[in-house]
This record gives sequence, C-alpha cells and structure tokens, in this order.
Amino acid sequence: MKPTIKRVWVLGAGQLGAMLKHAAQPLGVDLRPVDIELDANLPLEEDDVITAEREQWPSTQATDQLAAHPNFVNQDAFGLVADRVTQKQLLDRLSLATAPWKLVETNDTAASLHAVYGARVLLKQRSGGFDGRGQHWLVAAHDSSAIPQGWHNKVIAEQAIAFDEEMSVIGVRNRAGECHYYPLALNRHQDGILTVTLAPLERLSGLQNEAETMLRKVMEELNYVGVMAMELFRVGDRLLINELAPRVHNSGHWTQSGASISQFEYHVRATADLPLAPAIIKHNSVMINLIGIDYNLAWLALPGAEVFWYGKEVRPVRKVGHINFSMADQAQLVSSLRQLQATLTDWYQPALDWAISELEG
Ligand code: ATP
Ligand code: MG
Repeated sequence: MKPTIKRVWVLGAGQLGAMLKHAAQPLGVDLRPVDIELDANLPLEEDDVITAEREQWPSTQATDQLAAHPNFVNQDAFGLVADRVTQKQLLDRLSLATAPWKLVETNDTAASLHAVYGARVLLKQRSGGFDGRGQHWLVAAHDSSAIPQGWHNKVIAEQAIAFDEEMSVIGVRNRAGECHYYPLALNRHQDGILTVTLAPLERLSGLQNEAETMLRKVMEELNYVGVMAMELFRVGDRLLINELAPRVHNSGHWTQSGASISQFEYHVRATADLPLAPAIIKHNSVMINLIGIDYNLAWLALPGAEVFWYGKEVRPVRKVGHINFSMADQAQLVSSLRQLQATLTDWYQPALDWAISELEG
C-alpha cells in the first residue's frame, strides 16, 4: 500500500515556516511555507491542511486562497488571539489571571488611566505588535504621559506588573484532545525582545501543573489543534498570563536541541493528524537569540553550539538567528556560554551573565 504523504501549507515563509519545513521532512510530510505577498494561484487539494506561522496577514491572492480552504486549522483562533481585546476577553471569560486591562476609548486620557491602573500603564497595540514594538509606557508625573495621537481605540492599557520573572509554557493538542506540554521555560527579555531562554529548570517545577492547567483551558476552549505558547509572569508564587501565541514560539526553539520532539515537529504532527508522543527532555538547554548581528563563523567552533541562521538581511533589533546548547555537562555548557559571550556585543553581556548565574544556581 502506498503511504499517504500529507501536504501541509504554512501561511507565511519566515524563519518559523522554514523550521516547520525542516521538522516535517523526516516525517515524510510535504510542508510548504507560502510567502504572504505571493501573487499566484496555489495548487491546493482537498486533503491538504493549512496552518500559519503568524497571527495576522494581509489579504493577497495566496493568503485569501489559503484562508478559504476548509482544512485551515484553528481558523477562528487566529482572529481572536490576534486582537488583544478579544484575547484578553477570552482570558477573563475563563477566569485566567492576566494583567488588569481595558480598551483605550475616545474619552480616556493618561490621567484617567493612571487613576485606575496606577503610576505606570503600558499601552499595547491591539494587533500587529511584536518584540515589544507598538508599545508605549505612560508614566504619571512625566512629560511622556499622554496617549499618543491616533492611538484611541487601537490600543489596550495594561497595569504594570512588577513581576519577578518571565516564563512560558508551550503545549500541543491534537484533534482527539490529546495534550502534551514542555517544562516551563525561563525567558529573559532585553529592550522588549526575547534574548535568552533556559529550560528546563528544576526550581520552576513547582509551577508546572498550574501553567499546564492554564494552557489546557485555553486550548480546549478554542478546540485548538497544534502548538500554542503562553507567556507568563511570575509574581511570587502566582502566575499571570501576559499573552498567547497560536503557533510555534521563539521561547520554544530550545526544543530543537533539548527534546526528542521539537515544537516544530509537534505542530506538524498535530496539524497533519499524525500520532503524538510525550517529548523526552534531554538536558539543560539554553537558547540565545541572534539579534541584529552579523553571522560569525566562530559560533560553529563552540562545543555543543547548534546554530540556526535564518538567512535574513541583518538590521538593528531584528532576530536573524539563534544558537541552542543542550548539554549534560553543566561545566562544559557554562564554558561554551562564556566563549560565546566573548563573541557578542556589550548589549548581550548582562543576558549571558544572567544565564550563567542561573545555571550555576
Ligand atoms: P512578543 O515579541 O512576545 O510578541 P510583544 O511585543 O507582543 O512581544 P508583550 O509580550 O505583550 O509584547 O510585551 C513585551 C514585553 O514587555 C514582555 O515580555 C514584558 O517584558 C513587558 N511587559 C508586557 N506587558 C507588561 C506589563 N503589563 N507589565 C510589565 N511589563 C510588561
Ligand atoms: Mg510577548
């Protein structure tokens, strides 16, 4: 009998699409990322499956065709999660803790928002923001405390959360409702952009159940299929949801090296309706984002380094690659991180120092 080769189309052809393709190949899945700007008719077939590597897309010939296909997985979830208003409403409806928020309406002023949320209020674009872009802090008794022109009804206001640290939980769900989760990942952001992820960390294991329960609630409510990420703030022993991503996520890139099934493979398996299995976690893993820097061949010479270069034009604050380490020998891992640190700019030094001190505990 001829095995059926599944074909999965991905709306979007950035690095996430490329890494999904990379993961699909050994599974025998024909996965095709599609550039959202493509002006051509795609040869879609009835049995094909459609997924996306992004929450939003412009209307083009290719995206319209993909979005209209009856096998577009999670179609309804994208619109809902892509707008922070409906995403926050979903969390409130499920009684899941999140930063207090409201839509910034025509009558709102910086003063009225400070009166409700306190001295520091974060404005976030309802949609389209990423890597901290499209955000603006209102700080009471400060000149900058004014809602920027044209932002009313286009942003939400969030109370500032004095979190202890940021983490994320990533899970997968298939059509039958079977779910699996990775251990919590600890994330370090610098200037609003993810810089380093560490996972797993023994000291976070006490929060694992709660994080999984929160994510399961969301995936079940949306009847979700595939990988979903939930960004969390830890405040003492409480978890608050920062935001959801209905897709593979940067804070899950460590799973390419540190787990028997990567987040990309899980997403392909779930969307193509292939069997899932628990992902076996290998070692302590560290993922370092390469942000706005040129490719350096010295990275390839670092023991244990697994380099992922996206082949994009290098621009400031742009994610152009990442490096994973997943090593049993902690001392060797730290030694490699120190060598990596020496190849990176000043901007990275605090993040690498932080990662090393976490590992050395
Ligand atoms: P991403 O790149 O993950 O898509 P984003 O630009 O969509 O990020 P958020 O994740 O909402 O935006 O915010 C970026 C960062 O800003 C967070 O990781 C966190 O460090 C900080 N931040 C967000 N919301 C709050 C808040 N309510 N209080 C304090 N800090 C916050
Ligand atoms: Mg975020």
